[in-house]
Amino acid sequence: MTAIPLVGIGTDVHALAADRPLWLAGLLGPGETGLAGHSDADVAAHALCDALLSAAGLGDLGAVFGTDDPRWSEAAGVTLLAHTAQLVREAGYVIGNGSVQIIGNRPKVGSRREEAQDVMSAAIGAPVRVSGTTTDGLGLTGRGEGIAAIAVASLAPGVR
Ligand code: MG
Repeated sequence: MTAIPLVGIGTDVHALAADRPLWLAGLLGPGETGLAGHSDADVAAHALCDALLSAAGLGDLGAVFGTDDPRWSEAAGVTLLAHTAQLVREAGYVIGNGSVQIIGNRPKVGSRREEAQDVMSAAIGAPVRVSGTTTDGLGLTGRGEGIAAIAVASLAPGVR
C-alpha cells in the first residue's frame, strides 16, 4: 500500500517598518520597506516553518522558537527553516516539498522567483516553490500595511 503523504499549512503576517531591511523568502530586498518583528520577519520563511511543523505534528513556530529564547533573537528566516527541517527529519519524516504564496503589493515575486526558490529549497533540503499575489487593494496587504504569506508542506514517513 502506498503511504499517504502528510501535509501541513502555515501562515504569517508582519507589518511594514520603514526603518528595517526587507528579508523575504530568504532574500534581501534592496530599496524595499522592511517588516517589523522579533527576528528578520521573513513571512515566507516563517509560514513554511509552520507548515513543516504542522505536517510533522511538532506544534508551531511560537512553541519551537519562543520569542523569549535568546538563541533565536534576530535569527534569519532561513536559519529557522533549516532548524525546522532538521527537527522534522529527526521526528522520522522525509520532506517532500513546500509551496509558499506571498501576498502583498510589493516587491513583485516574479523577478526573483528562481533565486528565492533556490535559497528556500537549500534551507530545507527539498523543493520549494514560491509564488505571489495581491488582494486588489483590499485588506492589510492591499492597503500596504504589511506582507502576508501562506504555505503548505508535504512529508512522507521516513525509514528509521
Ligand atoms: Mg513571523
